[in-house]
Amino acid sequence: MSLDRSTIWPYEGGEPGEFYYSRYSSPTVAEAERALGELDSGHALLYPSGTGAATGVVLALLQPGDTIALAQGAYYGTGVLFDELARWGIRHVEFDQTGPPPDDVQLVWVEAPSNPFLTMPDLDAAAAHPAPLLVDSTAATPLHVRPLERGADFALHSVTKYLAGHDDALLGAVVCRDANTAERLRTFRGHTGIVAAADPAWLLLRGLKTLEVRVGRQTESASILAERLRAHAKVDAVRYPGFGGLLSFDVADGDAARRVETSLERIVNATSLGGTTSVLESRRRWEGDRVPAGLLRLSVGLEDADALWRDLEQALARV
Ligand code: PLP
Repeated sequence: MSLDRSTIWPYEGGEPGEFYYSRYSSPTVAEAERALGELDSGHALLYPSGTGAATGVVLALLQPGDTIALAQGAYYGTGVLFDELARWGIRHVEFDQTGPPPDDVQLVWVEAPSNPFLTMPDLDAAAAHPAPLLVDSTAATPLHVRPLERGADFALHSVTKYLAGHDDALLGAVVCRDANTAERLRTFRGHTGIVAAADPAWLLLRGLKTLEVRVGRQTESASILAERLRAHAKVDAVRYPGFGGLLSFDVADGDAARRVETSLERIVNATSLGGTTSVLESRRRWEGDRVPAGLLRLSVGLEDADALWRDLEQALARV
């Protein structure tokens, strides 16, 4: 596993070889794409962020007048991105992903599980829809959901989260079932320059070595914390799909949420998810009315589960 930061490689016998200019392809990115493609049973392409991956796939596949059916309660930033793209005539409508997607759309976009509501899509109903299906499986990782094996055309990851896993790499990926479509995305990526650099790709390769161990422990700890939160008098609702390290729970209101955020001693009050350090935040500050005022999202890291629980208990005691 080598890190090659070059942007150019010599021509071979007077002609460009496999690698010649890094906007089109580079060895470290290609190696990371092979590794992720194997994990997700498809052809992987890396982008500078999860949002960059979403931009790359939508602009390569759709045209003005097309509509995306987007899962309600999916990652807030995905809807924000689609709002931006509306200026180029790409529309989106929201639907309840636990049921079938609406007719007359050109792309179906679900999240497995959704962030921060943690609902799972009806993948059979979504795959039966005639439009291509993209599953954002950032929170599940290929360890828990492999969308392409369930009939999806694309899996999308914010690699920034569990796959890289250490809160030190911003990176995204689209994994395609069909090789020709992957080539179309690759060409578009080179033409538009929405391409990943070698350093975060190398951090992905490093992160994949421990993915199973990390996500295994995060799942164990998150299951314990979800159960204890469910039994806590100050907690109104707990959302946890039964796997992975991400959960959300509700306290009474915005003031209570703020008190929990600012009382934590070990869990870090920060955004994002999927790293080795546990982080918690109120999502209301970003998402406004679409989330309950008391909703707190917790990404469980690798710390001792009992120590995490003691921290949550002492913070909840101040509510
Ligand atoms: N998809 C999901 C489910 C996410 O949680 C996020 C980021 O939080 C993204 C996509 C966007 O990824 P990035 O922040 O790498 O652009």
